[in-house]
Amino acid sequence: MDIEEFRDFGKAAVDYIADYFQTIRDRPVLPNVDPGYLSDLIPDEAPQKGEPWQDVLKDVDRIIMPGLTHWHSPNFHAFYPTANSFPAIVGEMLSAGFGCIGLSWIASPAYTELEVVMMNWLGKLLGLPEEFLNCSQGPGGGVIQGSASEVTFISLLAAKEKKVTELKSQNSPLTEAEIKGKLVAYSSDQSNSSVEKSGLLGSMPMRLLPADENGILRGSVLQEAILKDKEKGLIPCYVVANLGTTPTCAFDNLEEFAPICQKEGVWLHVDAAYAGTAFACPEYRHLNKGVEKADSFNFNPHKWMLVNFDCSAMWVKNAKYLVEAFNVERLYLEDQHKGLAPEYRHWQIALGRRFRALKLWFVLRMYGSEGIQKHVRHQISLAQYFEELVRNDARFEVCSSSMGLVCFKLKGLESLSEKLLKIVSEKKSIYCIAGNHNRKFCIRFAICSRLTEKEDVEFAWKEFKSAADELFGLDSKMSQIVDEIPEKKLRDIHISTPRCEILHEKTK
Ligand SMILES: *Cc1c(COP(=O)(O)O)cnc(C)c1O
Repeated sequence: MDIEEFRDFGKAAVDYIADYFQTIRDRPVLPNVDPGYLSDLIPDEAPQKGEPWQDVLKDVDRIIMPGLTHWHSPNFHAFYPTANSFPAIVGEMLSAGFGCIGLSWIASPAYTELEVVMMNWLGKLLGLPEEFLNCSQGPGGGVIQGSASEVTFISLLAAKEKKVTELKSQNSPLTEAEIKGKLVAYSSDQSNSSVEKSGLLGSMPMRLLPADENGILRGSVLQEAILKDKEKGLIPCYVVANLGTTPTCAFDNLEEFAPICQKEGVWLHVDAAYAGTAFACPEYRHLNKGVEKADSFNFNPHKWMLVNFDCSAMWVKNAKYLVEAFNVERLYLEDQHKGLAPEYRHWQIALGRRFRALKLWFVLRMYGSEGIQKHVRHQISLAQYFEELVRNDARFEVCSSSMGLVCFKLKGLESLSEKLLKIVSEKKSIYCIAGNHNRKFCIRFAICSRLTEKEDVEFAWKEFKSAADELFGLDSKMSQIVDEIPEKKLRDIHISTPRCEILHEKTK
């Protein structure tokens, strides 16, 4: 492909994306394909001769599009949002075009330097304490990682490094291996699966302590668990606080955790993957109180801040522990600018680095802090609107409502809500998933797409309402007394698991 062809291909691809967004509202949010659908449409081997781009783009429409779940459809309400915006898409495109690998400062000075500045912009936008920023004169700083999962794992490794160094400097009678064998980590049973995984990867038992009925891990429970481990001769090392849990968007209280972590010499990491974006609005910053006492903080601009995946923002109070844990020098990596700018390769797992700061820069400049605040407030108001609709129907109850997430269920037996979700899922006109509230089944309704508007929320609510009508097989007045209907009288509904759920199970 020559440059002129690239111009045409690239422009056609941008047009294709623009058309996609123009029509996304009319597309069913969930695909209608069976597992293995794609291999029937595609040859078993790569072609011997190169093919024209027109044919390839046509096949995107024929083969790929039918198998997409439309995460940016206004009817997508599952999981949490994955961010997307036109400035970010173009940022990704340019970054691919430059195609550098920022493994050191000289490997592409703009990569490192823009990232340093963007992490300052972002930290200030969230009102983070100065000590976390690259622009403070201290040892703190921010870096962009690929995912919250990586950040939790990296922070765990840094915590381990810190604890081992500390104990060795105190002339501990234990060997390094013995110390490492005794380290323990803590989080709540509401924490993301990636928190448990970080314990597995980092060979540190991760205690998932029981949260209270509101999904919050209380300080007293944490304190008790730490004391119990110390009695057994174990060494508490790492705590992950959740600001916006995945199941219900509950917020642990940093001011409860911080004194315990300080007293016990434990690293406090804050996982605000989804909800952290809300701290761009001053009215939500009280939920981040105590963050100045944390050792590391993380949120995903790729979730709620309009920056396409991947872009996970991480700040540490002392980057020394990362660098000490990860620093491996080689002659071919040395450059004479050492020490003047962070060598971000020592802050992460991989050697190579993408230019993620570019899309972040585009989004922050083209939306401005006002645009981001508007986006957050709008999505929260849509969730509140949905909550109100649920509350106005006596058959339903709201389990929790926080940020852009509402968890709700039918009153009465848990199986009723399970059936309700099955009916709605079968129709595939909206996409929601099940969740847990206080260890009981609920339906999670998240405002995800930046295209979702009031009418879409009403549409989604109608889906639930009519599913409830169908479920009870009664007129709506009668069904308001569901609590009194024995389950066997309800229409027996056997619906197979939708295909999409099977696919999700497989990829988990
Ligand atoms: C989504 C989420 C994660 C995982 O995010 P990735 O960037 O996909 O690793 C971690 N923690 C919480 C609270 C989340 O909501």
